[in-house]
Amino acid sequence: EYVIEAKDLTIMYNGVNAVEDLTFKLKRGETLLLLGPNGAGKTTLLRVLAGFHTEYKGYLKVFGKSPLEVKDRVAYVPQTFSINSRVPLSVLDVVAMGAIYKRGIVHFNVPREVIKKGIKVLEFLGLKDLSSRSFRELSGGQKQRVIIARALMSEPELLLLDEPLSALDPKARLEVTSVLSRIKEKFGISMIITTHDINPLAEIGDKVMLINKKLVAFGTPDEVLRDEIIGKVYGPAS
Ligand code: ADP
Ligand code: ADP
Repeated sequence: EYVIEAKDLTIMYNGVNAVEDLTFKLKRGETLLLLGPNGAGKTTLLRVLAGFHTEYKGYLKVFGKSPLEVKDRVAYVPQTFSINSRVPLSVLDVVAMGAIYKRGIVHFNVPREVIKKGIKVLEFLGLKDLSSRSFRELSGGQKQRVIIARALMSEPELLLLDEPLSALDPKARLEVTSVLSRIKEKFGISMIITTHDINPLAEIGDKVMLINKKLVAFGTPDEVLRDEIIGKVYGPAS
């Protein structure tokens, strides 16, 4: 069973093609690493899969349906996450919001079961000690892990992560990667992770797709992560 099936998928902004003729499939439980230089169309593809951008043509099914119909089974973690709150929010508040905003309702009293679930998710990701800390005072790597925890509150079947490791130091990159690896093992969630740097994500990728407006390569990490293929887009390795 396929989570995603795309055939000749072209995505436009006001009639201008941003991504052209992508054909690929992703199976349930698989993690896809989406590579490509700036402007290649990585964020654009994620936003279409999440149902946020609908200007596209070609064949595209997510869980066999149009992305708009399955929005509630998909979670999107944007590259920059900001909280517009004048009061400092705790980590648990931020995670609980993942369940609450999902339904488009702002609750001022967070239901007890949401709090309980938030604690469970934080515990599962090894973040329980951070629960009562102020979110805004966390390190970049801690924030990213909390934002991922937040995305899990809706129990998504497909998790889309846009550059989750960018702007993190090597230690934080490893920590975030290990959280993603845990999620993959425990829940079998399918993931698409965009990145311009494959380390240390390569270990959790089942498939790698390299795009540069068009599809350059799609396959297993061994098939795609080769100098002669990567070099087509990034130039020869030095
Ligand atoms: P990447 O995530 O790989 O850096 P993007 O998906 O952000 O690439 O961008 C792909 C192409 O789409 C670029 O040419 C970019 O300029 C264009 N683009 C992105 N967002 C918009 C937008 N909102 N309106 C018009 N063009 C856009
Ligand atoms: P428990 O077995 O006590 O519910 P788990 O360790 O199995 O705890 O899971 C931790 C929490 O993660 C659960 O409360 C569950 O609701 C939540 N969770 C988040 N995403 C998912 C998912 N995709 N599938 C199942 N559970 C999920």
